[in-house]
Amino acid sequence: MSDTEIVDDLPLEADDVEPRNAVEEALFGLIDEAMDTSARSLYAQGKKVGVSDIGGCREYVRRLIADEDFTDPRKNFMAAFMGTAFGREFEDAYQRRHPHALIQQAVEVPLDLQGFQFVLPGHLDIVDPKLNTIIDGKGLALDTLIPTPTGWTTMGALRVGDTVLDMAGKPVTVDVVSEVKNIGCYEVEFANGHVIVCDEEHLWVAQRGFRATPGVVPIADLRVGDYVPVAGALDLPDAELPLNPWMLGYWLGNGHHADAMVSTHGDDALEVQLIAQSLGYRGLVRHDKRGSNTATVSLAGRLLRDGSRRVTGSTGFYSVVRDLGLDEGKRVPEVYLRSGHEQRLALLRGLMDSDGTWNKTSRRASFTSTTRALADAVAELARSLGQRVQTWTRESSFYGKTVTAFYVEWTPTVNPFLLRRKSERVALASDSGTTDHRVHRVVRIEPVASVPTQCISVNSPTETYLAGEAMIPTHNTKNGLAVVRKSGGDLQHKFQVTLYGYACVKAGLLEPEPTLALAYYDRSGVEQAPHIVSWEWDQSIFDAAIEWLNDVVYALTQGEEASKDKPRDWCYSFCPFATACRGGDTDVEGLIEDETIVTAIDLYKDALARETAAKRDKDTAKKELVGIGGRTKNWVLRWVHINESEIKAGTRRAYDKIDIRPNRG
Ligand code: SF4
Repeated sequence: MSDTEIVDDLPLEADDVEPRNAVEEALFGLIDEAMDTSARSLYAQGKKVGVSDIGGCREYVRRLIADEDFTDPRKNFMAAFMGTAFGREFEDAYQRRHPHALIQQAVEVPLDLQGFQFVLPGHLDIVDPKLNTIIDGKGLALDTLIPTPTGWTTMGALRVGDTVLDMAGKPVTVDVVSEVKNIGCYEVEFANGHVIVCDEEHLWVAQRGFRATPGVVPIADLRVGDYVPVAGALDLPDAELPLNPWMLGYWLGNGHHADAMVSTHGDDALEVQLIAQSLGYRGLVRHDKRGSNTATVSLAGRLLRDGSRRVTGSTGFYSVVRDLGLDEGKRVPEVYLRSGHEQRLALLRGLMDSDGTWNKTSRRASFTSTTRALADAVAELARSLGQRVQTWTRESSFYGKTVTAFYVEWTPTVNPFLLRRKSERVALASDSGTTDHRVHRVVRIEPVASVPTQCISVNSPTETYLAGEAMIPTHNTKNGLAVVRKSGGDLQHKFQVTLYGYACVKAGLLEPEPTLALAYYDRSGVEQAPHIVSWEWDQSIFDAAIEWLNDVVYALTQGEEASKDKPRDWCYSFCPFATACRGGDTDVEGLIEDETIVTAIDLYKDALARETAAKRDKDTAKKELVGIGGRTKNWVLRWVHINESEIKAGTRRAYDKIDIRPNRG
């Protein structure tokens, strides 16, 4: 045996792992160290507000300015490390081609807002009249199940050219698969109990409110109570099926294990007989003579009188059941689960006609079985037909024995029964006016330990694909570039580059009103070309950034907290103020439906927006009035000098305060 020890996962990061040898000792903690001394981390340690913070969380910036203590020292350096390392290469390459360019240029953005003077530090990747650079990427957990037109696969097994399904249920081709990433991850749980793990850069198709229009939402903006639309019925071609799907479904639910007989409710016997005979089976009915309203129907084969259909011998019902191995355990063969729409509906109806019921009170279809494989198949079939399904398990007592029963329930948009006794009771969702069957409600979003993630891009017009057992639509991630192409760049990034542009002009590095650019790269390396978002100097973006900062300053001067712009789960995972800032939050989970409360929330947010707009108007007017004193018909205008004073956030320098009072003269 060789003396060489092969170490699969060198622990460069983990706090709780000790180096085991000299090589590990030499490399241990390298990334932490590298990032601890990076400019970005030094800002964080020095608790300075940087240009890149503007547009993020207002309360975070307020706490930094107020010099409040970090309560949760956190490190999540890997993604930052990769971004920095890649960025450095890119900047060097740029400078080689354009030797006049400055890279990693330190700048300061001087600002004077409501009596506060700020100097926001920042590092520009590349200083040029035209370009700056930012890198981005997106992904999903590798072990996520992905439905395909032929069954299931996992995200990790997908390759370019594979076929998956989009939110309309159409088969679509995978055209990009990213490399595996290890970055922050979230668990997203839906009301039906399904959980999908995605990384911090993942995008969802979601809506806020039943009737809202769905849009593309980054995981950081996804909220508990948001809705993800239910996927449409899978649009698949008819398959060659060895047994009629309705008959197979009915036998799986009510058939005898050892022969081609099915038990039926007495009132269904004639209908079942007619269906069986139409398929070429004998359909002999025997009613129970002991007084119960039940019967058996034979699916044994015979030649029809006209000789057109032979279902005896190897084509007889039970022969095929044996060939499929169903005599050893009831289940739905895979080929049926991905057959054509009408074939899947027929199979579902067969199963529901046997073991399904209609709940008149809840107006939901329900299937119960002690065979998990059958309940799973019903859930999958219903989902594949565009139904939003709920499943659960319960210990139940049958004939004195405790057994585990598997339940599947949904509000149908298509009648799940064929037999008249059941189908005539059904009220479809469209008739009952309900809407919740069209969406999956998000009930929990929680940061979880990082798992390997990967992202794919598909050639669907909706840029979506289905993920997880519940076939929940998720957005085409395309390494972040697709969303940038759609949205034209992140506002926070635009604030950053605009403030850099302002700083460069002030420092004399650029002419006034420079052209600004963001260069988005796929750091997984799958996409070769960057996506460039560039624009001529836009004063409104600068004004919006200043307004954003004004909100922070307003909160500071009023001794209030600023707006908390991140979801709580995000805070606990990434923000060093999380415990101090969010620890006292009252529970905010659960959908508020009380009209009075909903109206009050809307009113508050509306008032807040008006307050912000009023503040902006005040500032605009104030600028026009600087240094002016006098009277109008209605008002007396003067300026009052306020001396320097100590406030909680530090020293507030002296300033002139506008004073306008009614003209009573
Ligand atoms: S904990 Fe969240 S809301 Fe509070 S400052 Fe941090 S990011 Fe903002």
